[in-house]
Amino acid sequence: MAIEYAEKVRRIPVYPAADGYASEGPIAKLASNESPYPPIPAVIDAVTKALTGLNRYPDPTNAALRKRLSERTGVPAQRIAVGNGSCDILLAAGDALLEPGAELVYAWPSFSVYPHLAAASGARAIEVPLDAKHYHQLDKMAEEITVATRLVIVCNPNNPTSTALPLDEITDFVKSVPRHVAVILDEAYIEFNVLQDPDESIDLLDKHPNLVLLRTFSKVYGLCGLRVGYALCGSEDFRTAVDQVRQPFFCNAAAQAAALESLNHTDEVTRRVERNLAERIGLIDGLRELGLEPAESQANFVWFDLGEERVEADVMRGLAERGILVRAGGALGREGALRVTVGTQAENERFLETLGALL
Ligand SMILES: *Cc1c(COP(=O)(O)O)cnc(C)c1O
Repeated sequence: MAIEYAEKVRRIPVYPAADGYASEGPIAKLASNESPYPPIPAVIDAVTKALTGLNRYPDPTNAALRKRLSERTGVPAQRIAVGNGSCDILLAAGDALLEPGAELVYAWPSFSVYPHLAAASGARAIEVPLDAKHYHQLDKMAEEITVATRLVIVCNPNNPTSTALPLDEITDFVKSVPRHVAVILDEAYIEFNVLQDPDESIDLLDKHPNLVLLRTFSKVYGLCGLRVGYALCGSEDFRTAVDQVRQPFFCNAAAQAAALESLNHTDEVTRRVERNLAERIGLIDGLRELGLEPAESQANFVWFDLGEERVEADVMRGLAERGILVRAGGALGREGALRVTVGTQAENERFLETLGALL
């Protein structure tokens, strides 16, 4: 007889991971919104140093990192949660807030981890479609909030569509949400958003104890291989709840050391963002020259529809055969679209040339 699993194992969608992790050769990895730049040397040194202490458990309170984040953001350390990637905090929030009978509201297409929260908990997910230009419809999301709602997630800038709403729209929305409903503003790409300074949304936390800003070292800091993210919370009880539902040592010693050291190099991080923005403009211009209409990107990736007469799978295959990995819209909620990460100048040019030839 086969092993009998919990019902949620049948419900939880399999994460649509990108291909190509095992490939060798000159592959352009433009599928996972990673940084194309290698880690900062001082960060590698800090990690190497942390490795000499691997016989000890990491600090389960992440005290040094939370203190440092507190100094940088002005949010008290008691209201900062750390995680094994920000996805860890997201899943813990689902665990702490959701159960059968509860409801969760988010936009769609949005981050492919959100459906997991409802499936794992037995709560009901309400997915509110994006508008025709791939933006969140916050008014429609607000209409979906009921007495059963426990959590609303707004991804800004939105993955996979790259669009961002201005902060005043987000502010009005957060104001309209009842205080017993948690709002997670997933800001994984906030540093790439030219509409807003990353510090601006932090001010909202003082007025809204039910708000949580989810941020990560994976994207702009280029540390996704180590897994470390954090949440700036409007209230301490959110932090204690997500800590309570997880295993004690959720953030490993190397990740803590790397994140801490990264915060000493924000000038370099800013330079990388600027380079990425210049490349983003080139990529968008190149796509427009091919007759495509990319969404207005405020992130380190670009999203566009291929157009009626083109088959997504054919374009994906053509690119992959030529060593270029991007993400198919079908796996992310919109068949016939592509998401391409902004890479190095050479990678972006190669992508545009190859795509042009395929179309
Ligand atoms: C990449 C990403 C994250 C971050 O994931 P980590 O677990 O921190 O690597 C969170 N939210 C969105 C929308 C993302 O695209």
